Amino acid sequence: MSKIKWNQHRYQELINLHKAISLLSLDEISSVLISQLPSVFSIDYFTLFLYDKDKRKLNLICHNHPEIESSFSIPLSSSPIMKAAVLSGQYVLEPDFSASSYYRGAGNPLFKEGYFVTIPLMIEKEIVGVLNINDVTQDSVDVEDLDFILNLSEFIAMSVSNAVLYEQTRTLAVTDGLTGISNRQYLDKSLLIEFERSTRYGTPLSLVLLDVDHFKDVNDTYGHLKGDDVLVALASLLKKFCRTNDIAARYGGEEFLMVLPQSNAQGAFKIAERIREEMMKLSFDENESGFSVTISCGVVELNKDCMENVDQLVHITDKALYEAKNSGRNKTVIGSTESKK
Ligand code: GH3
Ligand code: MG
Ligand code: MG
Repeated sequence: MSKIKWNQHRYQELINLHKAISLLSLDEISSVLISQLPSVFSIDYFTLFLYDKDKRKLNLICHNHPEIESSFSIPLSSSPIMKAAVLSGQYVLEPDFSASSYYRGAGNPLFKEGYFVTIPLMIEKEIVGVLNINDVTQDSVDVEDLDFILNLSEFIAMSVSNAVLYEQTRTLAVTDGLTGISNRQYLDKSLLIEFERSTRYGTPLSLVLLDVDHFKDVNDTYGHLKGDDVLVALASLLKKFCRTNDIAARYGGEEFLMVLPQSNAQGAFKIAERIREEMMKLSFDENESGFSVTISCGVVELNKDCMENVDQLVHITDKALYEAKNSGRNKTVIGSTESKK
């Protein structure tokens, strides 16, 4: 092939792959890379890691190694070649990797034999991830090949970074900033979906509304930041007790709501009680005069004969919580399904 034709051919490959990976989901980008990268780069194996700067960890997101079954994470420090690439911001090429100083012996699932190139994926000066390329034939990468691979890696870096940002923005939009659990907007939508599912299919649905007792006093006595710690700790307990399809969300201020599909009132009551008991055991404040905090809970199971919409269901849960507060706090009350108003 003439030089110009060859260049045009590669240019076209570059454009095609760029178009294919200009997607907003990491899963979609991964499947395009798995199906196209080895042939476009004329290489045997590749692995793509995302770099978690805070934890200094590399998270494998896609690869075409038959022996690697699932994704895994490794600390940056445990891969000398990736560490060198990340810290320097430069690619590292070893034509005979097994003879290089980075080699840590056989048994590395990311390397077969031959040459190994590690390319840091960067946006501006930030490392987004690392692309490793391995071809079993030694010296099979020439300057033009490498140039092409490095150019394309910039596109991959851009696509991956866009997808990560998109994912983060989506998560932020549905997450409560203080506690990291779902926010009210997400809750409202999910609750409606679960309510409709439950009324249509007749499956159980229960709510638990939890409210910190005398929280105003906690703030007044120990300060707002300590109060925040209490909310974060309660949110962690909710997460701990959530099963796969359960939803825990910050309902407002110091109130939280759990949506428990497939739970009847008794099941929801048990979960609420376990959270309440665990909450009592927690001690806040570092010094010896650590304080504890109690919560009150209202529980209701959906009864579609007397609850026509989500507002009624929430209203009855709210009444149950009110009863728990009025009858001494630090307790769970199951709402009466007869009372519509
Ligand atoms: P009760 O036992 O009846 O629930 O009493 P309470 O003091 O917990 O209830 P009240 O509604 O009087 O006070 C709630 C307090 O929660 C008032 C508000 O300042 C505080 N609060 C709301 N959101 C936050 C927050 O994000 N952080 C902190 N630290 N406090 C908050
Ligand atoms: Mg309260
Ligand atoms: Mg309250």
